[in-house]
Amino acid sequence: ASSPDEAPRAEKVSAPNVRLTHPDRVYWPDVGVTKQGLADYYMEVWPKIAPFIVGRPLSLLRCPGGVKDQCFFQKHGWKGMNAAIGQAPDPTDDEPVLTIDSREGLLGLVQGGVLEIHPWGSALKDLERPDMIILDLDPGDGVGWDRVIAAAHEAKARLEAAGLAAFVKTSGGKGLHVVAPLEPRAEWPEAKAFTKAIAEAMAADDPKAYVATVSKAKRRGKILIDYLRNGRGQTAVAPYSTRARPGAAVSAPLAWDELGPAIGPAYFTVANMPQRLAALDKDPWAGFRKAAKPLPEGETGGARRK
Ligand code: ATP
Ligand code: MN
Ligand code: MN
Repeated sequence: ASSPDEAPRAEKVSAPNVRLTHPDRVYWPDVGVTKQGLADYYMEVWPKIAPFIVGRPLSLLRCPGGVKDQCFFQKHGWKGMNAAIGQAPDPTDDEPVLTIDSREGLLGLVQGGVLEIHPWGSALKDLERPDMIILDLDPGDGVGWDRVIAAAHEAKARLEAAGLAAFVKTSGGKGLHVVAPLEPRAEWPEAKAFTKAIAEAMAADDPKAYVATVSKAKRRGKILIDYLRNGRGQTAVAPYSTRARPGAAVSAPLAWDELGPAIGPAYFTVANMPQRLAALDKDPWAGFRKAAKPLPEGETGGARRK
């Protein structure tokens, strides 16, 4: 009993089996992106986003009524959570963390109104040892985009001087994220000390341009080199994750030579990212995992240049 519409059977079997309720609900009213539109986006970018969100604890920004309504961070399970979202023990927490391992899981997030996906920098199989570190570059008021780009190049140079590889992505908000893949050997406190040393060295060498501490008052006209993402249980938005901000921007991995005035921090969106991926002949973050190196010994790892 095989009919033509049963032919692509394997595809059907592997097609994600998650029911979206209210697929026409508008999540980003300014650009008309719906819940179904978000699901379609994530299924398109699945091969690209999967390495960054599968098998890790996730902090989820849920906005069940869309970006104009209330949003809240969720680190633990909730009533009515889709069965495709998994949970895993965290030895330091009474409650399990949230995780996904498949496209079904990602659709489960969409079903739950998750508009931002924030993974830990370590995997479930080795929670105490980060496999990436991030310098989150946060421009204060009055800082031009050219200066944020310069900060990213500066962070890259310092990471490379310490023997690490550096990759850059837009945040989908106001800044850039410079990310270094690690072989997971050192534990969280070392990762934080290392990134703190880089942030403090940047601020010490160019105090008019950079600050390493979060105090709002000190930030005007400067770029905060936010290293505090590099602690156990801290997160940064995933590459290719959407943002719960107007425009349905996404955090977009870039090649270093793409940094320039044409591509702002929220330039890539749910609407144009699939076209970008189709048109690129090389993934700008190809070789991310292969470029992983152990965190260098010693607090500064050669990050201090002067
Ligand atoms: P932008 O470029 O606008 O700064 P961003 O994603 O870098 O965008 P930040 O405010 O710098 O935003 O925060 C960096 C990361 O810290 C976030 O991506 C998120 O993972 C985490 N974070 C920030 N605020 C919270 C919060 N209230 N609860 C949980 N995680 C948070
Ligand atoms: Mn930031
Ligand atoms: Mn920040």
